Amino acid sequence: MTSTLTVRHLFGPGPTNPYPEATEALARPLIGHLDPQFLAIMDRACEGLRQVWGTANRRTLPISATGSAGMEAAFVNFVNPGDAVVIAVNGLFGERMCDVAARCGAEVVRVDFPFGQPVDAQKVAQAHPNPTIIAAVHAETSTGVRSDIAALGAIKGDALLLVDAVTSIGGIELLADEWGIDIGYAGTQKCLGVAPGLAPFTVSDRAWERRVENPRSWYLDLGMLGGYVGETSGSATRTYHHTAPVAMIASLDAGLQRILDEGLDAVRDRHYAAGHALQNGLEAMGLELFAAEGHRLPELTTVKVPDGVDSAAVRKELLEKYNLEIGPGVKEFANTVWRIGLMGPNASPDSVALILGALQDVLGK
Ligand SMILES: *Cc1c(COP(=O)(O)O)cnc(C)c1O
Repeated sequence: MTSTLTVRHLFGPGPTNPYPEATEALARPLIGHLDPQFLAIMDRACEGLRQVWGTANRRTLPISATGSAGMEAAFVNFVNPGDAVVIAVNGLFGERMCDVAARCGAEVVRVDFPFGQPVDAQKVAQAHPNPTIIAAVHAETSTGVRSDIAALGAIKGDALLLVDAVTSIGGIELLADEWGIDIGYAGTQKCLGVAPGLAPFTVSDRAWERRVENPRSWYLDLGMLGGYVGETSGSATRTYHHTAPVAMIASLDAGLQRILDEGLDAVRDRHYAAGHALQNGLEAMGLELFAAEGHRLPELTTVKVPDGVDSAAVRKELLEKYNLEIGPGVKEFANTVWRIGLMGPNASPDSVALILGALQDVLGK
């Protein structure tokens, strides 16, 4: 007998509920990873990724693991020991970048900003005279804040700009080429509305020329991956590196086609409308938002837990009574902030109504 799972509303910081098209693709017959049918799907997925990244980069591909592997690939392929790497930190994922970069031998120059505030490009520019890399998180899922990546592109000088777009891709505006992103990684389970398992990745020509020739990671070596995907798109000369996660890539392709059919602008507007409706509704209930005004992400809302309310007990009741998952805050805000995601198909008015109604009920006691 197989056990059945209770269906949940995934309104936390990710994973989100996938688009139905992405879920259906997982049930298709499995084909081989070098089958021409699969290679066509892979090429189309890479083309779709270029569109959601806002890039013409030839080297745009899904890495076979979650967003954190994208982060690892971003540093391990571009950091030589002793390189000065300036990292803007305004949340958990910026901190994780520091850890990953240090393990690659970087001289990490960390520039801290308060959690809940965006990154200030001028402070980043003053941190080091000639860094190899400047890195920042576009949408800090840990705090619900968006930073201005174009402003970092404007001050990067000779450095490569490395950006975490895990929670912005497929949700809010992302213009990798226009903003000057040289190295970008993302994830599938946030606004792209696909299950976790892949890290959409993009590299500019400028960055490619400066990559590490023999990176310490074999699996994430972009030079070797390029023989199979991205660089050789459309050609028959692909060489085996590792078995591509065929089903996940088909699912990503289906999710991307779903987004592109709706239109990037329409998808973005839907995320904005849902996020603003939720944020207005929470304030109307007397709750206080956490992220700085003017820099709030529509796809991830952070809200303060009212005084005297048991944060975990509320989340538990939401899950048990409404099958509704929201996230706790991170680090020192674990018990004082909730994180509510409206990503992918969940960026909709019915999700907003459900969250506000359920919270009102649970907090009403
Ligand atoms: C979720 C997330 C990650 C990590 O992705 P995983 O898929 O959990 O490995 C990295 N950065 C940001 C901004 C995220 O939201």
